[in-house]
Amino acid sequence: MTGTIFDIQRFSLHDGPGIRTTVFFKGCPLRCLWCHNPESVSPQPVLAFYRDRCVRCGACAKACPNGAHELRDDAHLLHRDRCRACGACAAVCPVRALELVGRNATVADVMAVVARDSAYYAESGGGVTVSGGEPLMQPAFLAALLQACRSKGYHTCVETAGFAQGKAVEALVELADCIFLDYKTGEAEAARNWIGQPCDRILRNLALICNRHTHVHLRCPIVPSVNDTDAHFQAIADLAARYPNIRQVELLPYHDTAKAKYERFGLPNPLTGIAVPDTEVKERWLARLAQLGCRKAVLG
Ligand code: SF4
Ligand code: SF4
Repeated sequence: MTGTIFDIQRFSLHDGPGIRTTVFFKGCPLRCLWCHNPESVSPQPVLAFYRDRCVRCGACAKACPNGAHELRDDAHLLHRDRCRACGACAAVCPVRALELVGRNATVADVMAVVARDSAYYAESGGGVTVSGGEPLMQPAFLAALLQACRSKGYHTCVETAGFAQGKAVEALVELADCIFLDYKTGEAEAARNWIGQPCDRILRNLALICNRHTHVHLRCPIVPSVNDTDAHFQAIADLAARYPNIRQVELLPYHDTAKAKYERFGLPNPLTGIAVPDTEVKERWLARLAQLGCRKAVLG
């Protein structure tokens, strides 16, 4: 069983209980304007170019079979339309200015990395977290990985935005020990504008997960001037009240730390000029939720 991943982070402390190993799946069907992992969106590997590291040696231009690198005068042009993500340029770059992000891996490959920290899982109450991207875009690989973790006794968390086929969601409910479920908006037009997909399927899956899985964390990105509205906070509080299986609501305040990533991957940053909320604003959001009766909320 093979899937496409773009990273495995060991000793992660923020992706679930205890010490965890987080496996990042590649590919996402949503196009959230505030995406912090733009390199995860394409299901294929993509080339990162750290322009400030480049010493203009020309090795990449010689190595590329498609003429994607062009060094002229004092400019290094990367013609991304010619790039086929073969990784030949990254392999010869002497200063790691190029990096191919995304690779095929078998379940056994991933488990070999995961197994290195099994002693820490046992000691800390940790385990394995699957993130992305959207893990449910690779449902068979996800199911096989979760089964492999279960057979070893590793606790599992899966982060999902819930835009997936019902069958994949049902398998997730069966196999994951904890689900971190995004809630970005419940309004059709806002969903089309902000996340690039309709939200009816997401809301159906949200209901399925929250009715059937006993350990759900609702994760709510809050973006000023996008979804920091009273109606949205009310909707979050209503969900938290309706579903006892939602153990915690995590507010994820907008931040702009992905700016450099958009440049590195040659992608347009769709959301600029948004003020990053300060501590006072974030505390006000939390207080508003408490006023609305939601006492399960924390700042993520
Ligand atoms: S990844 Fe391959 S195709 Fe893309 S620029 Fe590098 S050498 Fe050329
Ligand atoms: S191989 Fe690396 S350092 Fe050399 S020109 Fe290409 S990106 Fe720059």
